[in-house]
Amino acid sequence: PSPPLPGDTIAAIATAVAAGAGSVAIVRLSGPQAEAIGRRLFVAPGAQAWESHRVLYGHVVDPADGQRVDEALLLPMRAPRSFTREDVVEFHCHGGLVAVRRVLELVLAAGARLAGPGEFSQRAFLNGRLDLTRAEAIAEMIAARSQRAAELAMAGLDGGLQRRISGLRERLLDQLAELEARVDFEEDLPPLDGTLVRAELEAVRDELERLVAESRQGELLREGLRVAIVGRPNVGKSSLLNLLSRRERAIVTDLPGTTRDLLESDLVLDGVPLTLLDTAGIRATDDRVERLGIERSRQALAGADAVLLLFDLLAGWTAADQELMDLVPEGVPLLLVGNKSDALPPGAASTGVPPDGPLVTISALTGAGRDDLVAALLGLCGAGDVQGLQVALNGRQRQLAAAAATSLERSLETAALGLPWDFWTIDLRGAIAGLGAITGEEVSEAVLERIFSRFCIGK
Ligand code: GDP
Ligand code: ZN
Repeated sequence: PSPPLPGDTIAAIATAVAAGAGSVAIVRLSGPQAEAIGRRLFVAPGAQAWESHRVLYGHVVDPADGQRVDEALLLPMRAPRSFTREDVVEFHCHGGLVAVRRVLELVLAAGARLAGPGEFSQRAFLNGRLDLTRAEAIAEMIAARSQRAAELAMAGLDGGLQRRISGLRERLLDQLAELEARVDFEEDLPPLDGTLVRAELEAVRDELERLVAESRQGELLREGLRVAIVGRPNVGKSSLLNLLSRRERAIVTDLPGTTRDLLESDLVLDGVPLTLLDTAGIRATDDRVERLGIERSRQALAGADAVLLLFDLLAGWTAADQELMDLVPEGVPLLLVGNKSDALPPGAASTGVPPDGPLVTISALTGAGRDDLVAALLGLCGAGDVQGLQVALNGRQRQLAAAAATSLERSLETAALGLPWDFWTIDLRGAIAGLGAITGEEVSEAVLERIFSRFCIGK
């Protein structure tokens, strides 16, 4: 989307639309022609007044033949008291596909242009209604897969992130102002204590590094973890899957995976959305490779952020378990899970020694050890403490924050060399620009387009 043109009015269906689903669908218009188009298409009987933020009842009518298209409500919101700060009109139509599409067609025929993805939010940003972190939080809210992810997006929407970043940027601007003043008017001003400047730059750098480190957890909440469950046939993979999803009562889908041989299940564990990949349906055959499901395990492991390798405590750690373990790519967090602890006679030790590393024992049958497994898995993925998270940078913001921290580091190195003040300011300016790009105070057209194009249409 490009910046709003004067006279340009955009329109889109603002609700999720599916055949036969949803009782209400909204067609939203924004721009100077919004109200005029609304008046052309909407017939409100009686003496209803067209006032801002006041709902009208009536019918959407095709101006070509006067035919009623839908019974609807119409909500005009005049600038600047609207999401985009432009004139906005919403048609609240009947859900489903047919009526709402017809209304959108009429709106477009009456002179509106179909909005691009995120174009409403982009206008809200360009008109000063939202800073960039809040606009991005809207997209994150829509995409949130768990309550915690939605809360985090809400914190972004409330401006928590914007305040943190702007606060840091202000502190850098204060230091820049001090330095610049000395460059130009050294003799007219009290002497500047370089150690104080450096201490402040260090403090801001530390804060940025903390934000960058925490953002990994925010990313987990936003995007979720893909966890592969692998193990020999009959060790209890499906039972574990059922245990995890049943206890949470949050299982959403049992979709066939991207390949027909993988079962994907979405669930939420301790606030973290997970997709479990199970190499389901592997049956014992004579073919060793087929029996272990080596190929399927490879597929499950390929896209996994973490791996649960199940083995049977009764059978102990076997060569076949080791063979599967050798498939786990280097660097992917791996948790060994000894299953069927309930069947192990008290005092009996399992045979075979599993390799060193994180290990839990559970019973997928009774649920024993389930909480330990969840804690160990999330801890292993760095998702252990998502509850304490206040704000979190997304990928774009993290890159900028990390680069700003690096710039400050360079500025500190320059300072340590005892170079004149104006040398200090070079990288300091870079850091300030980077933080400005996070909130949108300094951001290029091209970046804006990329950000808003990730939104869905109608937002
Ligand atoms: P998969 O082939 O790895 O998916 O294994 P399943 O989940 O289908 O389980 C294979 C068999 O082991 C089934 O008969 C389960 O009831 C049994 N089983 C699974 N977990 C446990 C457990 O913790 N204890 C006991 N005693 N049996 C289990
Ligand atoms: Zn299974």
